Amino acid sequence: MAKEELECSFCGRKKPETNLLIAGLDAHICDRCIEQAHGIVIEESKQSDSSDLSAELKLRKPQQIKKFLDEYIIGQDMTKKVMSVAVYNHYKRLLQPNTKDDIEIQKSNIIMVGQTGTGKTLMAKTIARMLNVPLAIVDATVLTEAGYVGEDVESILTRLLQAADYNLEKAEKGIVFIDEIDKIARKSDNPSITRDVSGEGVQQALLKLLEGTVVNVPPKGGRKHPDQKFIEVNTENILFIAGGAFDGIERVISKRLNMQAVGYSASMSDEVVDQNHLLQYIIPKDLKDFGLIPEIIGRLPVLTYMDPLDANTLRAILTEPKNAIIKQYKKLFEMDEIEFTITDGALDYVVNKAIEYKLGARGLRSLCEEILTDAMFELPSSNEKKLNVTKAYAEDKLTKTTLKKLKAVS
Ligand code: ADP
Repeated sequence: MAKEELECSFCGRKKPETNLLIAGLDAHICDRCIEQAHGIVIEESKQSDSSDLSAELKLRKPQQIKKFLDEYIIGQDMTKKVMSVAVYNHYKRLLQPNTKDDIEIQKSNIIMVGQTGTGKTLMAKTIARMLNVPLAIVDATVLTEAGYVGEDVESILTRLLQAADYNLEKAEKGIVFIDEIDKIARKSDNPSITRDVSGEGVQQALLKLLEGTVVNVPPKGGRKHPDQKFIEVNTENILFIAGGAFDGIERVISKRLNMQAVGYSASMSDEVVDQNHLLQYIIPKDLKDFGLIPEIIGRLPVLTYMDPLDANTLRAILTEPKNAIIKQYKKLFEMDEIEFTITDGALDYVVNKAIEYKLGARGLRSLCEEILTDAMFELPSSNEKKLNVTKAYAEDKLTKTTLKKLKAVS
């Protein structure tokens, strides 16, 4: 019997008619069919990318959300837990079917209270990264009431549109992080002359956005011009996260706790109040006493706090998170085939300097940069393939002047 001629099992072309015939277990495929199939694969993945945005909002359970946060953020367990639940509920709300039971799940906008550099922005960034939604980070201090020098509140949404590459559908399911919300608290001694004296006007302007409304947004930002075209953005499904240091709020909390202790002698005095960590007792009323208007507080129903960073936390921040600073330097050196190591002594030294000069977590990066700049400049063009940073090495690179300089910019 003549030897059977090989052919493509998909299109039936004989081997000589193809450029290439690849053998599988008991089938063959020709180059044309491979190309066609490849085209189908690409087309399919494109379609599933854009098909259903809600599918893209990978709905995870709160415990999974917290696990994800744990990979990037050290400590702050309470806030991570509260945020996980709030974010979970927010996206459940987004995906809720249109039932007729009249139960409307309300927004779970969040407010985080804690000193600067404790990871509030990082928290918002990590959540946006996990959900793969656009994130706009805005500073409340630049916001003004319409008519004043500064940015209109709508500019927040311009930023979100930009973060979403002007994909309106994506922007409308994004996250907005409003930093320094405490700076628009009502205060009679506000020194700003370019803004309404109380900051209350800005709070009023924010109200609508927080609750959910359709806003005319100038796509390029800036102030509203009569001849500028607007994009209508619905804020109903945008998750707002506000953060602020609320300097001095401990006094408000402490005062309330003392009053409670006097008023209901049994209640608070029974429990030992941890005077060093008063933030953990924060309640919405404290924000009101600080100067936020009750309506704003009502629209940021999830209230949580950030712990100050101690030496252990700072030490862990250097090495543990998925993209920890030290891991980043390791990778940078690796690209030049240089093995970078750092001793425990040197790490402790960096942490101690960050504390001594009150540089916080942000300072860790600047300290490492100062210590490693010489090496990063010299080693790539040398034959040296190893760098071990010891405490002595770090001390040598960090002079008093550089430390003072770092303090000045932090
Ligand atoms: P905040 O918004 O509270 O002022 P950030 O989120 O901007 O603080 O934090 C500043 C930097 O400090 C972050 O980029 C991050 O590298 C680091 N950092 C702060 N807190 C933590 C933390 N708990 N875990 C990991 N890194 C942190």
